[in-house]
Amino acid sequence: MIGLRLRRALRRLRPEPVRPAILMYHRVASPPVDPWGLAVALERFRDQLDALARRRAILPMDAFVAALKERRLPACAVALTFDDGYRDNVTRAAPVLAAKAAPATVFLTAGAIGGELAFWWDELARMILLQRSQIRYDLVVGGRQVGGDLPAMAPGEAPDPAWRAWQPPRTAREAAYVELWRLLQRVQPVQRADAMEALRRAIPPVPADHEELPMTGDEVARLAAAGIAIGAHAVTHQPLTTLAAAERRAEIETSRSVCRDLVRGPVCGFAYPHGDRDAETIAMVREAGYSWACSTRGALVDPEDYNRFDLPRLVARDVSGAALLRQIEEARP
Ligand SMILES: [Zn+2]
Repeated sequence: MIGLRLRRALRRLRPEPVRPAILMYHRVASPPVDPWGLAVALERFRDQLDALARRRAILPMDAFVAALKERRLPACAVALTFDDGYRDNVTRAAPVLAAKAAPATVFLTAGAIGGELAFWWDELARMILLQRSQIRYDLVVGGRQVGGDLPAMAPGEAPDPAWRAWQPPRTAREAAYVELWRLLQRVQPVQRADAMEALRRAIPPVPADHEELPMTGDEVARLAAAGIAIGAHAVTHQPLTTLAAAERRAEIETSRSVCRDLVRGPVCGFAYPHGDRDAETIAMVREAGYSWACSTRGALVDPEDYNRFDLPRLVARDVSGAALLRQIEEARP
């Protein structure tokens, strides 16, 4: 048996061939908490684009997929995507992209655009992780009773912007956030809305940062006019496999028509909310007339073996440009 360390050393001596990659961003921001690691700070985003522009060929998604189909995609190709439709994509990401002439696609949660409400996972993070006073709640989520009684934060105690929800929680608030998120993620949209309303009644509000809200229809039109492609990301951001077939189809088709109306042009791409998909859902996206779709499977694109309705993406984390390039080089198809 060849040892793991020896295998790693051999791998370093014989580097993997360069392969194309699709990068997944959400926010360009520095929020006070970020349990899902969705934000890249503005300075790091600039540094990442500098590094990518130097070492890689940044292609629009449509051109990336067309070249993939015609078997002429350069190995150094990357495509940039942003999920959900956060306002900071317009105010912070778009100017940097324009300055570098870097193409990108923004996938919109169609039902959230122009709304007053933050995405539920962000609002939940504010309520549980940022509210300093004592928190008490008692609610039913999808038939399950869930309660919490969290003491006020002590003077000097502060939420940890570096904590991630996949790491073990170190505070009662972090544990409560993970518990509520897990319950809320899989219930139906109506049940989630009811549960969020119960939490709003129970917990004093922490105002949202303007940039963490979904963009407006006008802002979508501005992005499109600036040359940023718009894709669909369903209507309610519900994990699609939790829905009955008719509702799932409606999420896929309606989000496309909403996006088309906003950009007054074609909408070719789709991204599965939470990356949640199965063979039936993938077939529905194809049948709805999209040209390609992205998942959240963290891998490079293998030009010899891919499904253009199930394209993998690497998460771009809040790291330097050099670290992002290394991450891409070390990733696997
Ligand atoms: Zn999303």
